[in-house]
Amino acid sequence: MSAPTHHVVAIDGPAASGKSSVSRELAARLGFLHVNSGAMYRALTWSVLRAGVSPDDPGAVVAHLGVIDIACGEEGGRATLSVDGVDPGDGLTSPEVNAGVSAVSGIPRVREVLVARQREYRLVADIVMEGRDIGSVVFPDTPYKFYIDASAEVRAARRQREGISDDLARRDAADSTREASPLVVAEDAIVIDTSEMDLTRVVEEVLAGLAGRGMEVDS
Ligand code: C5P
Repeated sequence: MSAPTHHVVAIDGPAASGKSSVSRELAARLGFLHVNSGAMYRALTWSVLRAGVSPDDPGAVVAHLGVIDIACGEEGGRATLSVDGVDPGDGLTSPEVNAGVSAVSGIPRVREVLVARQREYRLVADIVMEGRDIGSVVFPDTPYKFYIDASAEVRAARRQREGISDDLARRDAADSTREASPLVVAEDAIVIDTSEMDLTRVVEEVLAGLAGRGMEVDS
C-alpha cells in the first residue's frame, strides 16, 4: 500500500520571525492542519524541567524522553500535544523553556524521535508545519517551502511586545550552529523578509508562491 500523499507546506525561519502567525492564518485559508514543530521541542523541555533534569545533560534528557509519553494528535481540525496526558499550555513559552529548548533540540536522539512524530502528520492530513528544518530535513520532498525572515531588530521588538523573556540571539546562534539539523535556508525555499510587511501581505505572498509552484489556491 502506498503512503497517502497529502500536501505539506513547510514554513521555516528564526525565532520570532512571524512564522506562527503566518502558518496559523495560512492553514485556515487553505483548510490545512497547522502543526507547530517547535511546540514539540518545547513540550519535551517543559517536561524535562518539571522532572528536575538539566537541559544541558543529553544523557539524562534522552533517558527522560524514554519514560514519558508525548502524544501528538489532531482534534476538531486542531493539532494537539500532551505529555503524560497533560497539556503544557502556557508552560510552553515560559522563560525557563525559552532558555532550555535549544540545548534539548540539539540532541540527535531527541530530533530522531520528534521528527518521526512530525512525519506522521502527513499520513492523516494536508498540513502547514512550521519549524527550523521542515523543508530541509523533515519533508525535503515537498515543493512548498518557505523561509520566513525578519531583521533582528524587528524580531526583538515583536518579542518585547509579547512581554516574554527570550534571548533570541542566543537561541538563533545555537539553532543555526548545532550539528544536528541546524536552521538553514533550504536550497529550493522561497525566502520572504517580513520586516516591513503586515500579516495579510505575508500570507498573500505565500499563497502566490504556492500557486507558482502548482498548488490550486483560491485567492
Ligand atoms: O519555533 P519556536 O521558537 O517555538 O521553537 C523553539 C525551539 O525549538 C527553537 O529555538 C529550536 O531550538 C527548536 N526547534 C527545532 N526544530 C524545529 C522547531 C523548533 O530545533 N523544527
